[in-house]
Amino acid sequence: MPIGKATFKLKEAIVPTRRAVIYTRVSDTNEGNNGVSHEFQETACRSRAAELGYEVIEVFRDNFSGKYLHERPELSRLRELVRQGHIQAVFVWKLDRFSRRLAQRVICVQELRDHGCQYISATEEISDSPEGRLLESILGAIAEFEVERTLERSQAGIAVLKGRCLPICQGKARYGYRYIKESRTREIVEDEAKWVRKIFEWCVGGDSSMVIAARLNRFGVLCPAVGRGVKTRGASPQWHSSTIRSILKDASYAGAPMVSGKKRSTAEVSRKGHKRTEKTNPAEWWKAKDPTPPLVDKETFDHVQEALRSRRKTRDGRTAEYPHLLRGMVKCKICGRSMSPWKTKNPAGKTYFYFCCVSRQMGCNCGNAVTPIAWLDEQVWSSVVNLMRDKDAIEARCREFMKENKCDDLERDQAAHQSKISEARESIQRLIRMLGSSDDPEILTPLQGRLAELRSNIEAHQSEVRHIESKLFTVKNQAYALQHWAEACQVGGEIIDEENVTFDYKRKLLKALDLQVFAAKKSIQMSLGLPLVIPDSSPGLAASPTSPAARPDVRGAITTRR
Ligand SMILES: [Zn+2]
Repeated sequence: MPIGKATFKLKEAIVPTRRAVIYTRVSDTNEGNNGVSHEFQETACRSRAAELGYEVIEVFRDNFSGKYLHERPELSRLRELVRQGHIQAVFVWKLDRFSRRLAQRVICVQELRDHGCQYISATEEISDSPEGRLLESILGAIAEFEVERTLERSQAGIAVLKGRCLPICQGKARYGYRYIKESRTREIVEDEAKWVRKIFEWCVGGDSSMVIAARLNRFGVLCPAVGRGVKTRGASPQWHSSTIRSILKDASYAGAPMVSGKKRSTAEVSRKGHKRTEKTNPAEWWKAKDPTPPLVDKETFDHVQEALRSRRKTRDGRTAEYPHLLRGMVKCKICGRSMSPWKTKNPAGKTYFYFCCVSRQMGCNCGNAVTPIAWLDEQVWSSVVNLMRDKDAIEARCREFMKENKCDDLERDQAAHQSKISEARESIQRLIRMLGSSDDPEILTPLQGRLAELRSNIEAHQSEVRHIESKLFTVKNQAYALQHWAEACQVGGEIIDEENVTFDYKRKLLKALDLQVFAAKKSIQMSLGLPLVIPDSSPGLAASPTSPAARPDVRGAITTRR
């Protein structure tokens, strides 16, 4: 692949030359006379370094016995240079040049590796020789030993904290706080804490988590992850309702003691490079003696917990108080946003339930008035019952739709456009060949004009093909949905005449019909989420008394919803 090659070359250009030093040593006694002089060692090392692509920046020469390590002046200088991190490799003629004692050599090699430096022998392949293998195993054992020692030390530290009932104070503290590691406590960060207080305040005032999140995003408040420099991979840097809920449910904001020891990080790293943690046994958890400074009082917190509990939806869309038949199916007729169920109490204590456009809670009121829920339920249900009873109209409309939207025609058109595109492409190829073979401007100019024309033709055909493709997709989807819809109508029509239709059944039927209600005060418009336009004569949707223009704009509804 050319791209791979380019990257490789780029890497070569970016990576600086690797620098190395040579260490030679002759013993005082007779080595210098046996052909292993400094010069001999240096030559061997230099050729090996050149082979491996290292630049030799300095040569260190010691005249010393290999028995002693720390007394050698040049070796000490070399180790100092390595510690500064300027060198990537140390070349020696043979492994024993560093030291004749294995233990000393292990210490030296470990030191080199700690500073990112390699130990290379000019004449021996370290990993292949028996000594190399021994060296490797010893180094491995040392590394393992170090890991265990660290773990032991940290666990001893945790045991001390546990004994004194102090928190661990690791990682990021909760939003609104900062860890003080010295005193093992949490301190309030006022910039964040003011938002925590606001969140509780808004929740007490009746705002949902979603509304609160939207408001914070609108105010430009940084969400916890972004505000504190936590790296988020792909996550959008915004407040979400889940973040708000986790803050609202967190007892430590009301001054609950900090619980430590819930998680323990392991040596494991996930495929994406995240550190893994494991949950510890709850019996090992402990509560910190010093409670966190609270941000909200106990009463507020309890109130919020109660509010969250009561707002929890049941499976079929009912709140604990009122069974909302149309929850999730009502949209604002003015701005198109959803309408959510709300309630108010008048001074006499009577509760009213109504649907209200969410733009009101979001602070950008579209001006739509509220719609009473009981009234809307009745209107919608009676219209649906009327529609169900008129089976013939439904069936006729289904047949008509299938006849109107024949996929075959669309597919034929699509193929025609495709063949025109390929024809134009071939002509362009021919023109390009002609352009290449001639220099005469009188021939070239008209050819270029023709080329531009062909290119614009191709674009026009392509946009036509895209249009047909989306149409085909919609038609196929609709045909499928229509089939289901007709089945639902059939089943629905049979049961609807019975006296006591249950709430669950009503809701299931409305969902199966893919019902969508657009409401503005007491004017409603219904769409069935299908290309099913009910004829005016039908007693179905047109029968709705408060909406004279009851024929739903169903096609529009589909394109915006799917
Ligand atoms: Zn609205």
